[in-house]
Amino acid sequence: MSNDTLSSRLDGIRTRIARASEAAHRPQGDVRLVAVSKFHPASAIEQALKAGQRLFGENRVQEAKDKFPALREQWPDLRLHIIGSLQTNKAAEACRLADVIESVDRPALVDALSRAADRAGRLPDLFVQVNTGDEPQKSGIPRQEADAFIASCKARFGGSLKGVMCIPPEGEDPSSHFAFLAQLAHGHELTECSMGMSADFETAIGQGATLVRVGTAIFGSRPTA
Ligand SMILES: *Cc1c(COP(=O)(O)O)cnc(C)c1O
Repeated sequence: MSNDTLSSRLDGIRTRIARASEAAHRPQGDVRLVAVSKFHPASAIEQALKAGQRLFGENRVQEAKDKFPALREQWPDLRLHIIGSLQTNKAAEACRLADVIESVDRPALVDALSRAADRAGRLPDLFVQVNTGDEPQKSGIPRQEADAFIASCKARFGGSLKGVMCIPPEGEDPSSHFAFLAQLAHGHELTECSMGMSADFETAIGQGATLVRVGTAIFGSRPTA
């Protein structure tokens, strides 16, 4: 039982990240861990903070707003990534809350973020989410449109556009998706490549991930969506 605390699970993930980085001949510290805390209470996030974790991911703006401002007061160096599909009417709140928005995926959202940032006087770092599997139900810019969309985001946001993100199709070998995303980042001279989750983060590290988003393997299974 004592071997299954949040802190020991976090340690286990850190060790696996370090090993996968070494196997991929990547310098230690090259890959950072985003602890995905969606559906888990602030108390669980506090445990992770006490265990040294500072980087968190949340899917929903409202949920992030409920949990993170109070945590930030106590841990001012925590960083919050919004990783879920973002409605345009949540763009303003996301700009106020997030350090990074990983799910920029369509022109209407670019416009909304641009306006919201002007009003808020604050623009988070941005990643373009790519629907590498071109799945109709999934958010993300389609593969074919990714180059043009990234270029337009760069024109609009300049250096605030920092990276790309993907969620490969379930039940498929993710390797080719990760390779595609890494190539895209490289081609556009973007430094951040957010890919890999609980089930496949080591594969993603082998393909060049700079951020892995791990939820279940740290916090346990989520209460139903
Ligand atoms: C929930 C979620 C994760 C974490 O998934 P796990 O399988 O629990 O590690 C990562 N990325 C995104 C975008 C998510 O929505």
